[in-house]
Amino acid sequence: MCGIVGFVGKQQAAPILLDGLSRLEYRGYDSAGVAVVSPDGGIDVQKSKGRLQVLSDLIHGGEDMKGCIGIGHTRWATHGAPSDVNSHPHLSEGGKFAVIHNGIIENYVEIKEFLIHQGVHFRSETDSEVVAQLLEFYYNECHDFLEAVGRVLRRIEGAYALGMLCADCPDRIIAARKDAPLLLGYGDGEYFIASDVTAIIKHTREVAYMEDGEIAILTTDGIVVEDALQQPVEKQRHHIDWEVSAAEKGGYPHFMLKEIFEQPEALRRAISPRLKDGRVTLDDMKLSAEQIRNFSRIFIVACGSSYHVGMVGKYNLEHLMRRSVEVCLASEFRYSDPIIDDHTLVIVISQSGETLDTMAALREAKARGAYILSIVNVVGSSIARESDDVLYTWAGPEIAVATTKAYSTQLAVLDMIGLAFGEALGTVDSAEYDAAVEGLQKLPEQLEEVLANCADIQKFASEHFNHNSIFFIGRNLDYALGLEGSLKLKEISYIHSEAYASGELKHGTISLIEDGTLVVALGTYGRLFDKAMSNVVEVKARGADVLALTTDAHRAEMEKTVPNVLSIPNTVDMLLPSLGVVPLQLFSYYVALQRGCDIDKPRNLAKSVTVE
Ligand code: GLU
Repeated sequence: MCGIVGFVGKQQAAPILLDGLSRLEYRGYDSAGVAVVSPDGGIDVQKSKGRLQVLSDLIHGGEDMKGCIGIGHTRWATHGAPSDVNSHPHLSEGGKFAVIHNGIIENYVEIKEFLIHQGVHFRSETDSEVVAQLLEFYYNECHDFLEAVGRVLRRIEGAYALGMLCADCPDRIIAARKDAPLLLGYGDGEYFIASDVTAIIKHTREVAYMEDGEIAILTTDGIVVEDALQQPVEKQRHHIDWEVSAAEKGGYPHFMLKEIFEQPEALRRAISPRLKDGRVTLDDMKLSAEQIRNFSRIFIVACGSSYHVGMVGKYNLEHLMRRSVEVCLASEFRYSDPIIDDHTLVIVISQSGETLDTMAALREAKARGAYILSIVNVVGSSIARESDDVLYTWAGPEIAVATTKAYSTQLAVLDMIGLAFGEALGTVDSAEYDAAVEGLQKLPEQLEEVLANCADIQKFASEHFNHNSIFFIGRNLDYALGLEGSLKLKEISYIHSEAYASGELKHGTISLIEDGTLVVALGTYGRLFDKAMSNVVEVKARGADVLALTTDAHRAEMEKTVPNVLSIPNTVDMLLPSLGVVPLQLFSYYVALQRGCDIDKPRNLAKSVTVE
């Protein structure tokens, strides 16, 4: 998920690796490390928690580590808190292999148990260490680095970009990838691997992108690439002509846009390890079915966009669990004398895991006896540490202040909680459960489809960026979706906007609708489509310009009344907001772009709100 760089050549590797890693710092990380094949034999590994500077000081800018072949890593923890020992590279027990890994090995528990049974001792809590240990295990059988790598890749499941060193083959790096970015760099007698071109652009602009299933062997003679069937692959090379600043954003003009487009990948990471044989399996949660049945009150507590995740979650969880769910703003909850006892579950949601209001609400709830289950992106953060249970979103680092991929992954995790709890309580209809699991599986792909249609949204935004005030209206799930759409727009474009439950309009706010007012009408929820249409007609009759969002199934119907219609693919009801939020994020983005706003760092806002 974070940074990888590898070097094979005639120069000293460590300073080049440190420099490469420093160019990946913008991505965010929690620890860093390097491994170099030492000229005296063996592999030298140095790593530490914290800033890259700590590592650099430790090895005197790389001078302390001799050797011309090495790998470096910046970690964004997913399994095991940030710490020296959990940092990469990971050495196998016998010290023969060093491994850096980006991604998640989904079946690491099973492999770890197998290896422990074989007498292997593990040092870290990470999923990644199994790769190093398994490599050594297979190597001890076959005595062939490449063959051992092949066996490991056939055994592991999940997402990975891997850089691997073997002390017995001191002339090479072997790299492999599946569902995580990795590229090869071609210099003059020197060769590179990197998760992101920024890391190596100083040395070469000739790169080739690795494909899923491919294995690359890098020596000073060049790079040989094989596919999964061990057939040689002729890689197409690309010349990078981006400036470094653009490369940092993967060619996107803003982190926000990059992160919007990373959502399919982030969702795959959040969802796929938690779906097994057609069931939602929250292995990383400690709560038992018995405990779930014992909860008599459920709260969702959060701030900002995470609160809006909770608003969607309330509809979905209540439907799936037939239990009432209260959604509270953390800043209000903490001072509201909440009714909590030891049969209360409080679900806390925070991207950073450091949000002060949410943290204070968590402590208040805990002191009153509640069980705390948190949904957090940053592993080892304060909220994660103080919770009884935590489900990580595995969205990767989010740099733009306005959240996008954290929102989407939080929502997917909350939906999975609803399904798992609904099953434990026996309240979810089995056909509905199966359809929801299928919907979750398809979600990343459907999101890619939505993103492919972003030109329509850009065009609409370019015609409507000059409004002073914009309304988002919808009912039920669409109302909850509108809250997030409206906040996104406010945050980055500074346009005043309100999200309204459509049925409430006539009780007051409709007085604000006049000729040319822009209303974003959300009508994705099929069950209430006719009601949504009535509200569209109502605001149009008062002169509003309408942008409607619906599903493909209802698009034609909507187009009879509204000229500007965006649609999302059909899915089960509970996942509609997960798809619907993307056009709204893009709309806000393009409006803000037209208005010349500082999109990644909007005025007055901070990424992680650690003050009250
Ligand atoms: N899952 C691995 C870990 O937690 C890799 C994290 C990363 O991609 O940086 O160590």
